[in-house]
Amino acid sequence: MTKKLLPTTVVGSYPKPRWLNHLVREYTEGKISEKIMERAYRDSIKAVVKEHELAGIDILWDGEMRREEMTSYFAEHIDGFKVYGEVRVWGNNYYKKPAIVDELRYGDELTIQDYKFLREITENRIKVPITGPYTIVDWSFNEFYKSKEDAVYALANVINKELKGLVRAGAEYIQIDDPAIPTHPDEIEIARNSIEIATRGVDAYLGIHICYGDYSKIYPQVLEFPVDQLDFELANKNFKDIEIFKEYEFTKDIGFGCVDVHTKRVEPVDEIKENIKKAFDLVEPERVYVDPDCGLKLLPSEIAFMKLKNMCLAAKELRNEL
Ligand SMILES: [Zn+2]
Repeated sequence: MTKKLLPTTVVGSYPKPRWLNHLVREYTEGKISEKIMERAYRDSIKAVVKEHELAGIDILWDGEMRREEMTSYFAEHIDGFKVYGEVRVWGNNYYKKPAIVDELRYGDELTIQDYKFLREITENRIKVPITGPYTIVDWSFNEFYKSKEDAVYALANVINKELKGLVRAGAEYIQIDDPAIPTHPDEIEIARNSIEIATRGVDAYLGIHICYGDYSKIYPQVLEFPVDQLDFELANKNFKDIEIFKEYEFTKDIGFGCVDVHTKRVEPVDEIKENIKKAFDLVEPERVYVDPDCGLKLLPSEIAFMKLKNMCLAAKELRNEL
């Protein structure tokens, strides 16, 4: 199969339908059964997948309908974590902060069943996103391991089992979401080692998504990470980071965040085309993946959809022009 030029893909979470949030609340309160909840998740995923297909997305995921949050979701499924109540972070946002209270061990499958379900309902390519061990540990309390480094490596070994299981199930494209990396540039060696451990023996196309950070603090070191693609948030900072990347040869494929997820303004197709073209200053078009900066989950769903649609139209037009 020849590779499609400028493939479009998604990052992070998509807006959840209101009825799903309602049912999750009812389920938490014990008002509906697990069977009904499971059916609701599957129905919401089918709806998201259909919406992404209609928008023209080439490489799909399930909108992360099952994930409330990118750290606690995984912590809840890995032995050795305990999830405390909500803690307050940045302004008025809360999240359930996990704690490592015992040796970390692989228990439940984390994403494998989700991958298999998606494979049943779409013909499109699939990208499986999973939060990186460095970020999960950075956003958790460590009450067991002697050092943060030990905890990160232990979790990387757990993630490695999951990634190998994903490949056995047929997954070909895996993305590690690691937004905490730029917040501690002094620990970039630990982050790099964690990716190496997590991806050892994993025969898939591998990307790493890093958002909301000062990329000058991790570049060019991040080029040494053992992945095929680096995926960055670029539209939100008006593509200024490209100047940082230009200082060294960009030796990976790039996931090019070309749509801003922090504004309700739907970027017109022509504008997105111009955005995508900026990637060609770094790498040849064959190495560019087109995606939004990050998850669209905080936007109204009709705006999220229009943003994806325009992004896909822009990629399509460019593909024809190249
Ligand atoms: Zn992100």
